[in-house]
Amino acid sequence: MGRKLPSRGKRRGSHRRPEGRVGENLQAIFPTDTQMALEAFYGRHQLTADGRPTAAWERANLATITLPYPLTLAWDLSVEVRRLTCHRLVAPGLSAILAGILNAFGSLDEIKRARMHLYGGCYNYRRVSGSSRLSTHAWGVGIDFDPDRNPMGKPYDETEGMMPMKVVEIFETQGWKWGGRFLGRPDCMHFQATT
Ligand SMILES: [Zn+2]
Repeated sequence: MGRKLPSRGKRRGSHRRPEGRVGENLQAIFPTDTQMALEAFYGRHQLTADGRPTAAWERANLATITLPYPLTLAWDLSVEVRRLTCHRLVAPGLSAILAGILNAFGSLDEIKRARMHLYGGCYNYRRVSGSSRLSTHAWGVGIDFDPDRNPMGKPYDETEGMMPMKVVEIFETQGWKWGGRFLGRPDCMHFQATT
């Protein structure tokens, strides 16, 4: 049984935030989570004959960021990840999010205790599991952490060592959406740069 999620902070009235926080601005510009909106905002994939994004598309749309702390591949704990590839439009925000996670936990040891070093992937041209539509990962605007404890479909339960809410808050402050709030099928490992 899932417990009730902590609610998202109340939005301030727009007339009261002339400067606003970065996240509030981004929330206004990120696209909705439909393939049409994602293609319009992040670019429609150009595909090779075997159905993969072309190298030219990847060069034009993706960026590589250097991580503020090393991640570990969740499915191969012997692999340390120092850089990751995401969409160029989310690269500065994602860097800020990861720096925010390091700052919030204070050390790599504490990050590991919270299992937030366990990286489940970002850019990956693929469909949503069980669907024909493209995943936000296909644009490099979705990222997963600690998939073992946060499997797709499992409702959030704070008693089971799932996604730390302070990580959720950091992503949401930058305008990202948490999969734990998806209606229908929750995906607590997942964050995406959509409204
Ligand atoms: Zn994901």
